[in-house]
Amino acid sequence: MGARLGRDARGPLAGLLIAALVSLACAGGGLVEPEAERPGANPPAASPGPNTTRADSTTSVAEFEQDVADAQAVAERYWAAQFKASGQRFQPIRRIIPYQRDGEVSCGGQPLPRNNAVYCSRGDFIAYDVAWSVAAFRQVGDAFVFYLLGHEYAHAIQVRLGINYSFTIQQELQADCMAGAYLGDSVRSGALTLAEGDLEEFREGVAAVGDDPNQPWFAEGAHGTAEQRTDMFFRGYEGSLKECDLG
Ligand SMILES: [Zn+2]
Repeated sequence: MGARLGRDARGPLAGLLIAALVSLACAGGGLVEPEAERPGANPPAASPGPNTTRADSTTSVAEFEQDVADAQAVAERYWAAQFKASGQRFQPIRRIIPYQRDGEVSCGGQPLPRNNAVYCSRGDFIAYDVAWSVAAFRQVGDAFVFYLLGHEYAHAIQVRLGINYSFTIQQELQADCMAGAYLGDSVRSGALTLAEGDLEEFREGVAAVGDDPNQPWFAEGAHGTAEQRTDMFFRGYEGSLKECDLG
């Protein structure tokens, strides 16, 4: 039982595309600032059952959408359990919004550009450019969708926990650790099943979104180098949330 991952990693150009595009993801500290509106009462509409199976060889948009929905379901089941264990009620994000055009979706009055994926704290939603995300999915593989969704969802969890670091890079590396923890713990619990090659997809995907090594760590948009991001992701993946400094 459980959502399944699996598909061979794609060609060597994958990293280039992702590096160019995902470096924009979460850019703009305002998008993840915790002075957001509190989430509304609406649970997410799409929560497919955990039994979804499908061929791993296809790269259709429908399969991509199913992976996004599966990743959301796995993440929400995971975080609901974590909150419950702490005696807190978990509020899922309000929506996941696919978009196709510049400015089609705004976050707190700021139009979201193409080639991006963000968590918007003001509206408590995750939004992603469909064409860009599907391209990344086709090139890197489905594991990357689970990582990306997990990273953005981690920003929503940070808001719920009131975590607001001084530097973007701290917020981002913690989100990578939390994404690793949700994936590693979900694999250990059986909620998520990896196929051969998925761990390598995680490694390649996370490394590919590292910052330019010349970017100062304290820069406003800094997410961390490939080495830092990979290290934090796998610390969370292997050691769970205790590695992530959630206080
Ligand atoms: Zn981020």
